[in-house]
Order: sequence, then structure tokens, then C-alpha cells
Amino acid sequence: MEKQKPFLPNILTSLDPTSARLLASRCRDCGRIGFPARPVCIFCHGRNLEEIQLGRRGRIHTFTICRMPVADLKAPYAIGYVDLPEGVRVFTRISGWEEKGLEIGMEMEMETGRLYEAEGEAVVAYQFHPVEGWRGDQPVAPTKDDDHA
Ligand SMILES: [Zn+2]
Repeated sequence: MEKQKPFLPNILTSLDPTSARLLASRCRDCGRIGFPARPVCIFCHGRNLEEIQLGRRGRIHTFTICRMPVADLKAPYAIGYVDLPEGVRVFTRISGWEEKGLEIGMEMEMETGRLYEAEGEAVVAYQFHPVEGWRGDQPVAPTKDDDHA
């Protein structure tokens, strides 16, 4: 298996496609959650933070299909924002959209995927794909810790 590394440090719990979670910070002073995790709260500038793991499912806030290749991304590719139940809006690459397309409000699930290769290593990032059989009138299912057993 080729060597893999995350595209940024301290952003994913692992590189496993089906169990990795995003790392964020919760401020013990104002209670708000910032992503990615930081040593200083982006809302109140407090330093009393704890690291938390975000849920793997959310909904598309907005998206776009890019038809011009850039650097290591072949066109077309999709990017957008996904709202997670913790109140965090995550900017992300979107996978698995080619067949059925995307809709605002669609339920999405996080996975990891190869972003590009550098110095013989696969650089891996988080991305979100549409949940099979999603329904817009149902609440997003919370991530249970046993979901990725
Ligand atoms: Zn704060």
C-alpha cells in the first residue's frame, strides 16, 4: 500500500475512509465550536479550548461544479459547504455527485480521499458524498461512535 499523509496536520482523527472524523475545538468560555481546531477561540479569543470530533453527516449549504482544472484537481470537480449538526459549516471537496447530481439541502457523509500525490506519497483530505436514499424532510442522523466499528 502506498504511503499516505493528511493534507493538513491535526484535522482528521485518521485517514480511514469510513471512520475518520474531523477535529474541531470547542470553547469552554463561550461554548462555540470552531473548525479546524485552533489554540485560540475565533469567536471570543479565549484560550480555554477542548478538542472535539465532529459528526460525519450534514447537509449541503451550497455547492458549485468547477469545469476548469486547477493544479492537481481534474475537471469537472465539485466543491461546496456542508452544515454539520454541531453548527459548523465546512468547506469541502464533494465526491460521488457525477451520477445523480447535487441539491442544496442534500444529506452528505464525510469520507477521506486522495487529493494529489507529492514526493511519492498520497496526500489525503476529507470530502463529502451524497447519502444514498437521503430525504430532505428527515433530520440528519447523528453520528454514533459505533457507526464505524
Ligand atoms: Zn470562545
